[in-house]
Amino acid sequence: MRGAVLYGPRDIRFEERDTPRIAQPTDAIITLSATCVCGSDLWPYRGIQAVPEPTPMGHEYCGIVEDVGGAVTKIKPGQFVIGSFFASDNACPNCDAGYQSSCQHREFVGGAQAPVLRVPLADGTLVATADVPTKELIPSLLAVSDVMGTGWFAADAANVKSGCTVAVVGDGAVGLLAVLSAKRMGAERIIAMSRHESRQKLAREFGATDIVTERGEAGVARIMELTGGVGADSVLECVGTQESMMQAIHATRPGGYVSYVGVPHGVELKGEELFFAHVHLHGGPAPVRRFLPKLIDLVCNGKINPGKVFDLTLPLDQVAEGYRAMDERRAIKALLRP
Ligand SMILES: [Zn+2]
Repeated sequence: MRGAVLYGPRDIRFEERDTPRIAQPTDAIITLSATCVCGSDLWPYRGIQAVPEPTPMGHEYCGIVEDVGGAVTKIKPGQFVIGSFFASDNACPNCDAGYQSSCQHREFVGGAQAPVLRVPLADGTLVATADVPTKELIPSLLAVSDVMGTGWFAADAANVKSGCTVAVVGDGAVGLLAVLSAKRMGAERIIAMSRHESRQKLAREFGATDIVTERGEAGVARIMELTGGVGADSVLECVGTQESMMQAIHATRPGGYVSYVGVPHGVELKGEELFFAHVHLHGGPAPVRRFLPKLIDLVCNGKINPGKVFDLTLPLDQVAEGYRAMDERRAIKALLRP
């Protein structure tokens, strides 16, 4: 088969790779219905994160189970399944606590920008839909695999509650879906920080009540102005830079909550500043597996349509254009059809 391999900065190739096979008795092999490019794929693509060797890319997936190993009992060939970027046994103490992305036996699922994928720990990792979904539902079910689950975690970890005021830092797919999640959880006021018109429009569609175009301390000042000088109850940091993290902490009211779900690059927090900020901090790689059953249900019942973040659809062999379009911010998120 052919799949996406990253060789170095802005050097993504679509080339021949070994077709995955069952390697462990707990594995499943899936034929992908769709896959996509993640904002976090752009870190190594831009050379901000080193690529020590040619690396098969992609970690967002949904599709039909082709084959399962001998120890797999729940997942069956023919089912339509969705999983997350960390395989998890869903049985250890960390999984029981709802932190499957810190599973004691977790394995990163890579190489999903391809027609076929091997998923370890299939019974713990994959969630099957009741029926094979219609084509129209595929983008939203794919979104649940990472961006929607991560946006949901951002809202959950920032204690978003009915009636509260939320600010979202970052207008990538995760930030936009964090807006959708906050709306779904009953936030009354949702301030989206974005300076791109098409993203502002989608943020409003997902439930944003206010848009702030300023960044950094000017953005903080604007949020203070909008919240009577207090700050937001919950601020969802969906970028991962020093500026976005400080913006989030400074825009939160004393006693409020900051969640951070953007992979941090060069973020350093000063103890004294944290001490006087008086905020709760909670984040990390989203335990998407915890939310999969609920989010799949919301999608299948037409309650949410997170697939709207895909504003570019390409055949898989044009994966390089998907990266370029996202890198140049011409696209919010690129869906790839194998
Ligand atoms: Zn576990």
